[in-house]
Amino acid sequence: MPTSDTTLPASAAAVRALFRQRFGREPDTIASAPGRVNLIGEHTDYNGGEVLPIGIERRTWVAAGVRREGGGMLRAVSANEDGAGEASLVAPTRSEHWWDYLTGVAAPIARDALGSGALAGAGIDAAVTSDVPTGAGLSSSAAIEVATALAVAKALGGTLEPREAAMIGWRAETGFVGVASGIMDQFASALSRQGEALHLDCATTETELVPFRDAVLIIDSAVRRSLRDSAFNTRQAECAQALRLMRERWPKLPSLAAATPEQVLAARLPAPLDRRALHVSRETRRVQEAVTLLRAGKPLSGELLLGSHESLRDLYECSRPELDWLVARSMLEPGVRGARLTGAGWGGCMIVVGDESALAAAGPKIGKDYEKEFGLTARLWLSRAAEGARVEEV
Ligand code: ADP
Ligand code: MG
Repeated sequence: MPTSDTTLPASAAAVRALFRQRFGREPDTIASAPGRVNLIGEHTDYNGGEVLPIGIERRTWVAAGVRREGGGMLRAVSANEDGAGEASLVAPTRSEHWWDYLTGVAAPIARDALGSGALAGAGIDAAVTSDVPTGAGLSSSAAIEVATALAVAKALGGTLEPREAAMIGWRAETGFVGVASGIMDQFASALSRQGEALHLDCATTETELVPFRDAVLIIDSAVRRSLRDSAFNTRQAECAQALRLMRERWPKLPSLAAATPEQVLAARLPAPLDRRALHVSRETRRVQEAVTLLRAGKPLSGELLLGSHESLRDLYECSRPELDWLVARSMLEPGVRGARLTGAGWGGCMIVVGDESALAAAGPKIGKDYEKEFGLTARLWLSRAAEGARVEEV
């Protein structure tokens, strides 16, 4: 499948070579973690609902090594970003550079070890290579966080459960880097499995793996998401207000996602809160339907995906004409079962499901027509559900 992004070499061998070149020795350990895409369940996470992501066949590799006499410092290099990172692991501060993602993860893991005992006064060196596109909505940030967590823990002689790595990554992203986000990205990167989708209940963090053998075509619309942050904040506030109003009638309602569509309709919320709440309620039920199908070994229903897209377009109002066009155009291709925008919306990516050979053939045609229609160059990736984070053999 042709893609228009330049694929940098990303592998255990490449990150080992980068580490060696930059630090002049072998790393102690190498870990990797994938980017992710959400199959269904959009804007449900912060409403106490469910999501269904997969890890994708694009990974970030982190090589790490303890440096004696390292003064409690992190040194970091990335094949994907400029600059030699340097940061204190003992008293970490934000630099506004890419290595904040590493600092925010490595500091809480390393603090105790570097503060006293055999490793007192040591530092950590880290090298990164990745073929997850950054800033495209495929969660390169979670991939680098989770891979760093596993690599640093292992280099210090310990281990981390994937779930712990996810939580450390999430805390680094929200608390240290300062990006407000739900737990889906880090959980997906840490806990995904090849050939399976991750059903995650965002309220309880309970997870379940369900078989998912289909290929997915991911299309980055290349529409800049400039209005996304303010619009996203507005939606979050609208959902909070909708929940407050619904609780006047149902005081024990745990979340907006828990409200049934019938309850939402009966609540007669003022517009546009009624539309937002109805989306969250129905989308949560679509996730449950999708999970029921996958559990039974059936394919992901195209109708559920299309239903999700229509709801995001009409009720949540977070689509864009470009994304609507891409969904409609994809559906014209034989062998395509369904499509929808994925991620927060207002631009970004969409997914298409169907026969793998049909998707492979359709991709370039859709991309070409899209360019003609909007003058934008879409990027395309075909992926199956990939293995989550893992420590590689060193
Ligand atoms: P997304 O997670 O959708 O890719 P984000 O803005 O959340 O987008 O995260 C992208 C940022 O994460 C990059 O700008 C960079 O700071 C950091 N990052 C991700 N991958 C790498 C990498 N391989 N090397 C260095 N920094 C990275
Ligand atoms: Mg991110």
